[in-house]
Amino acid sequence: ADYIPILTETPSDLFGVVIVTKDGKVYSAGDVDYQFSIQSVSKPFTAALVMTQQGPAVLKEKIGVEPTGMAFNSKLALAVYENSVNPLVNAGAIAAVSLVQATSEQERSNKVQQNLSDFAGRPLAVLEKVYESEYSTAFGNRGIANLLYNWGRLYSDPEEALRVYTRECSVGVSAKDLGMMGATLANGGVNPLTKKQVMPAKHVPELLAVMATAGFYDESGDWMFTAGLPAKTGVGGGIVAVVPGRFAIAAFSPRLNEAGNSVRSLKAIRDIAGEL
Ligand code: GLU
Repeated sequence: ADYIPILTETPSDLFGVVIVTKDGKVYSAGDVDYQFSIQSVSKPFTAALVMTQQGPAVLKEKIGVEPTGMAFNSKLALAVYENSVNPLVNAGAIAAVSLVQATSEQERSNKVQQNLSDFAGRPLAVLEKVYESEYSTAFGNRGIANLLYNWGRLYSDPEEALRVYTRECSVGVSAKDLGMMGATLANGGVNPLTKKQVMPAKHVPELLAVMATAGFYDESGDWMFTAGLPAKTGVGGGIVAVVPGRFAIAAFSPRLNEAGNSVRSLKAIRDIAGEL
């Protein structure tokens, strides 16, 4: 993803794949401990936080749950936002952080980061260089945040929402972390390692529904047709897919296709899902 300058420095040949079962067993191969930025894979987990704090109706009414069928950073999708925003595209994800209940930017950012850590079952940290690189070039996302605010569809100061959103995208994870985060969803919202109930079990199906319809951006239909699993991708090269009630499959490989999805991660997860 060369629009975030520092991501061009990631070695392109890294590749790791991991399965984490709902009881925390880990099966892995390749570069599964390499730290990369979570990017959009953070989005469903912050949507989960909004649902945990305020219920699914708030997510549906204040953000939306329709797949856009357009690129993740599309301004065109925004122009018809009323029926084409969901928490897994940039507009909806920036709105999601603005909905997190907090009295300061620091608190908002901490809550978002703590929630990601709770899903992973270990403390995650922001990769500051990635944050600096993305925030200093975030003109498109700044435009999106300001437009949403203008329409009354952003619920905090727009620049604050942009910063908190960019920080969440810059959180460092490994493929193993993504596997554990997915396994928490496979396990009804309970982290397999810490046993913490990170989100209510009753809202996991609603979250997986949004991942099924919009997790692969404008390739979501193709993904569901060929792999059939709720999943989320990020331009850092990570993907996590969830087999509800059983396990998660996560992978990491930096090279992306046109839609912004990791080519090898996509193929590896699809093949493993087929085998199993
Ligand atoms: N931080 C990235 C952006 O806002 C996330 C995109 C992605 O991973 O799809 O453009």
